[in-house]
Amino acid sequence: MAPLYNFASGPARLPDAVLEKARETLFARGADGASALERPFTSAAFRATLERARQRLAALLGLPEGYRVLFLAGGAMQQFSMVPLNLLGDSRRAAYADSGYWAGRAIAEARRYAEVAVVARYEGATPLAAPPLDDWRLPADCAYCHITPNETGEGIAYPGLPDTGAVPLVADATSCFLSGPLDVSRFGLIYAGAQKNIGPAGLTVVIVREDLLEREARHAPAPYRYRQQVDENNTVNTPVGWAIELAALVFDWITESGGLAAMAAANRAKAAQLYRAIDTSGGFYRAPVVPAHRSPSNVRFQLADERLTEPFLQQAEAAGLTHLRGHCHVGGLRASLYNAMPAAGVSALVEFMTDFARRQG
Ligand SMILES: *Cc1c(COP(=O)(O)O)cnc(C)c1O
Repeated sequence: MAPLYNFASGPARLPDAVLEKARETLFARGADGASALERPFTSAAFRATLERARQRLAALLGLPEGYRVLFLAGGAMQQFSMVPLNLLGDSRRAAYADSGYWAGRAIAEARRYAEVAVVARYEGATPLAAPPLDDWRLPADCAYCHITPNETGEGIAYPGLPDTGAVPLVADATSCFLSGPLDVSRFGLIYAGAQKNIGPAGLTVVIVREDLLEREARHAPAPYRYRQQVDENNTVNTPVGWAIELAALVFDWITESGGLAAMAAANRAKAAQLYRAIDTSGGFYRAPVVPAHRSPSNVRFQLADERLTEPFLQQAEAAGLTHLRGHCHVGGLRASLYNAMPAAGVSALVEFMTDFARRQG
């Protein structure tokens, strides 16, 4: 049977080596009679896993001094509330860039707690582009400025970061985290749901600059307080131990594969191959995003003849290329090429696309 390649945007494919290690780990009971799935979080063995995950991630990122790493339960959407609940402090205002679907959802949540200043707006024009960084007008009294560097649904990525001066920059990095090197020092806070590039769903990584922990989070429930989670070593509530174990395995895999620079190089090559196939298809396939803003993680494309979308999806699936349907709010097709997608998967997809186009004449 031909290999199967799952192009889902998340939960997404995990590296084969990680799944194999996970299988071993699942049954590996320690001297305490418990495996990583069964172990109480008060145990020394759990604390060791937590510390290992933290250290591996810090080493991968080259984490600067003055930042704390949390492995919290829940998805990125919990952070849509946790960010304003924790970071507004005495201010009532926060700035958000509205770059697409996920930014829009973050804004909707923030409006429950804050006056939201939308400093950049995605217009939904064709061809698509992220709001230009030069046009941003940031009110001075904002508690923070929130961006979504990679919009998973629209398949658009910022080519740079805004200069927000003294206003802390906050990023929902869910679909681009660990896809390449990241200058953490540019940010006040970064969060990423695990199911795209880190591990299984149910875990979110939060990296927060220590000075922001001083802001009072009056209305945040205890497990949702960054400060309290830091003070109580990530165990205000039961942490998602198994997901943290898997994240640590993924961090090991990235390290052994050459680190974040190697991830970036491989991801660039995969994305370039697929976009090239789209751009040289004589208009049979189209990428709706302007080249400078195309996401390397989520490659969005369409068939010029939309009636071919369903046959394309059916035949792709029969060829072992699964979950290529676009985000439900934007339609079309999408191939998510996170770290765990091997180059061979992209080659198989490009070959299928070429063949499909030829068969349609
Ligand atoms: C997938 C995704 C989310 C949603 O994450 P949940 O874990 O479902 O809350 C949020 N933001 C971005 C950028 C995403 O890609």
